Amino acid sequence: MRTIKTDILIFGAGIAGLWLLNRLRGAGYSVLLLEQEHLGGHETLNANGIIHGGLKFGLSAMLHDVEDLDDMPALWRDCLAGHGDLNLSGVKVLSEHQYLWSEASLAARATTFFASRLIAGQVQAAEGAARPGVLQNAAFAGSAYRLADMVIDMPSLVQKLTATHKSCIYKISPQNCHIETDDKHNTTAVFITAAGVEPLRIHPTRVILAGGQGNAALLEDLGLHEPEMERRRVHMVMLKRAELPSFYAHCLGTSRNPRITITTHPTRDGEKVWYLGGELADEGGPRDERLQTEFAQRELKELLPWVDLRGARYKTLKIDRILPAGDRGLFRPDNAFVECSGNNIIAWPCKITLAPNLGRQVLAQLQKAGVVPEHKQPEEALPLLYPEMGQPIWETLFN
Ligand SMILES: Cc1cc2nc3c(=O)[nH]c(=O)nc-3n(C[C@H](O)[C@H](O)[C@H](O)COP(=O)(O)OP(=O)(O)OC[C@H]3O[C@@H](n4cnc5c(N)ncnc54)[C@H](O)[C@@H]3O)c2cc1C
Repeated sequence: MRTIKTDILIFGAGIAGLWLLNRLRGAGYSVLLLEQEHLGGHETLNANGIIHGGLKFGLSAMLHDVEDLDDMPALWRDCLAGHGDLNLSGVKVLSEHQYLWSEASLAARATTFFASRLIAGQVQAAEGAARPGVLQNAAFAGSAYRLADMVIDMPSLVQKLTATHKSCIYKISPQNCHIETDDKHNTTAVFITAAGVEPLRIHPTRVILAGGQGNAALLEDLGLHEPEMERRRVHMVMLKRAELPSFYAHCLGTSRNPRITITTHPTRDGEKVWYLGGELADEGGPRDERLQTEFAQRELKELLPWVDLRGARYKTLKIDRILPAGDRGLFRPDNAFVECSGNNIIAWPCKITLAPNLGRQVLAQLQKAGVVPEHKQPEEALPLLYPEMGQPIWETLFN
């Protein structure tokens, strides 16, 4: 049996695991990352990719306090420019800005709501040619704003985060991976067996659970009952058409969330997909695919009647958003969730946007616990495969 010592062992190659791999390698730690499916995670590749600035858009937010995220778009912009927490230069930005539009009936309230932010420069009124093409149509009578939020192409982000650390990432199957713990639930070793290869025993100083929804099973393996995880089901809608304008916008609604959120994603076959979320998805859980599609079609007809969507093909996706259970995710919406239990660190970013915050929190935890880089990165590759690159669901669903 081959024995390896590593400073950090990460489970999961979604944004959480990949961001931490890059941050911790950059800080000098030896890191191994194990992934049970493909690179890019489950939630990560199927996200809209909006780097949120934290504004809430609904009327309820206009009446109550608004939670502002830290200035995450600025941190991401630094990374994209190559001088932030990570070097993300070359990652594709789908849109420099996410926009917000309101129907004419809500325009006055939107102006009032945004007044202070307009002054602070977080939001800018978008008029005439400054509006996205879709909202330049003469039939549009509402108001439009440009937010600080930008939209990132998730496959290109995953490519970038994996490119320089290929020798640290390995594919496992959960059946062949056994976690050994002591009576305080510390991880003492992780055993990996695979047919035809020498079994491996990994001794990590710290283990990071970055498995998204898979953290539930990992916690069970460790004999831990906390922290509990919450799944929030959303029912996203995808609309595919060769001719589709690029549009990145939220429509102001009367509740806490946007009535509809639209992002546009180029597909490998040269077409485009509009990926629809917001209230439409949050409340679409009980609707089946047909009802959800019809609902989305009605919304688009009512909100953007001048956009030609004839012949578009529709698909829907029911997917869970993973958050720590109870109020933990809501009390600190401007922070990723990081909790230590013995030598295990449990991480849920809660949003892609919060990955920089996740990285900073984990590094702070390691420093607080006195965990310094101690072991070398293995010189010889482990006898395990490199996981395949995953792809967003719309690349396969329409075939
Ligand atoms: C529809 C939707 C849209 C979203 N849009 C946005 C957005 O616009 N902006 C934003 O900021 N956030 C958005 N989010 C939230 C964001 O996508 C998630 O918070 C984030 O992607 C979670 O990343 P993760 O790495 O924790 O999980 P995941 O991306 O799910 O990755 C977890 C990985 O761990 C692996 N894994 C699990 N168990 C194991 C194990 N035992 N061993 C090895 N590997 C394991 C899985 O195979 C997977 O690859 C959206 C979420 C959804 C669902």
